[in-house]
Amino acid sequence: MATLPFKPNYSLDDLPKIGITRYGFIKTTDIVFDPQALKLCESNACRRYGKYWTCAPGSGPLEQSKATCHSYSDALVFCSVYELEDSYDVEGMARGGTEFRNVCDRLYDLLTPPFKLLSTGGCHLCKTCTYPDAPCRFPDRMSPSISSYGIIAAKLADCAGMPYINGENTVTYFGLVCFGKA
Ligand code: SF4
Repeated sequence: MATLPFKPNYSLDDLPKIGITRYGFIKTTDIVFDPQALKLCESNACRRYGKYWTCAPGSGPLEQSKATCHSYSDALVFCSVYELEDSYDVEGMARGGTEFRNVCDRLYDLLTPPFKLLSTGGCHLCKTCTYPDAPCRFPDRMSPSISSYGIIAAKLADCAGMPYINGENTVTYFGLVCFGKA
């Protein structure tokens, strides 16, 4: 198994420190790519469909996403769990989503390229996304959503032996880092 490409002085011990609750390792060939994930994106429940290069359809067709992941050998599956007031706490879910993007930014800063980081929908790197009028301003830094890559979070969690649901009145966000020479 390849080793997660940490910058000097960083290690797996730093993952909880940056806000990651749980993580596990899988082979990229074990990732399940499911066109149904893109159908969920198309339903636009998150209202981000067609608004960012990190979201469908801007992140590219499923076969291209699959090829990108398979160009690496291994993957880190990680998640962060956030408390909600109750199961209708939409604002708490949104806050969790924003915090998870910050967690992903911190993870990005711990690692040395080449790797591919996948996160949740949307992108906070620019005030206004260039999609679809001009290329992404930070193609190496932005992290597409796992669902826009055709990956269903529940299946990803299952693959890594991690729980998808983490208790009453919580929301869990999942991300992925593909790394290692295929
Ligand atoms: S980095 Fe900027 S241009 Fe690229 S997806 Fe994010 S917001 Fe859009």
